[in-house]
Amino acid sequence: MAKRATRLEKILNQLEKLYGSQKPVGPADAYEMVLYRNAGYPQSDERCTKGFEALKKKIGLKPEEIVEVPHKRLAEVMRAGGMIPELRASRLKEIAQIVSSEFGGDLHSVLKRPAPEARKALKKFPTISDAGAEKILLFTTAAALVALPSNCIHVPLRLGYGVERKNWAASYREAQEAVRAELPEEGDAYRRAYLLLKRHGEELCKSTRPRCEQCPVSEECAYYRKTRGGT
Ligand code: SF4
Repeated sequence: MAKRATRLEKILNQLEKLYGSQKPVGPADAYEMVLYRNAGYPQSDERCTKGFEALKKKIGLKPEEIVEVPHKRLAEVMRAGGMIPELRASRLKEIAQIVSSEFGGDLHSVLKRPAPEARKALKKFPTISDAGAEKILLFTTAAALVALPSNCIHVPLRLGYGVERKNWAASYREAQEAVRAELPEEGDAYRRAYLLLKRHGEELCKSTRPRCEQCPVSEECAYYRKTRGGT
């Protein structure tokens, strides 16, 4: 007998009807994902893509290319990705140095480690938190971990997956556990959830002023019930 869909699976089906099937944006290689994450600021797919493409075209992605280019030139190129180009240039150099000196020039060996060890290694890189490391492990298919989009964590929380805490990391963990409980233990299911929740957070369920009147899952939403007096 077919298993009944969980509440979260029904929500994701509704979101997929609205937005269509989602594809990840950006590179699929772990080292390049770390560069990509640091190529734009304030962080967004658009700015990171612009910064990453400028880096690839004008300097190259190999660690030695990034280590050797003068900082000033790298910062100029990083203007394509938005603000604080000097700081992002320093971070890219740090990434290239770490990957060369500690990991032999790429992160393939890191991805073969048990997930907790791989996560710890990835967190050595600038701006890579637990959430960022888990995203890399999930999207490189190194580990089937639930990862949630760090800039859209409010989406599962509003839908009733976890409770918002003062501490962001605690909110993230709660949402992560609640989402995990309603999905099959499969990387494909976790990637689909990540991408649809992210898209919803960027389109309708924005962090400020969500467009609840257009939302296909408002009937399921705890935030909507609380703020708009839904039943
Ligand atoms: S009803 Fe509003 S708050 Fe709830 S998921 Fe939809 S857009 Fe977000």
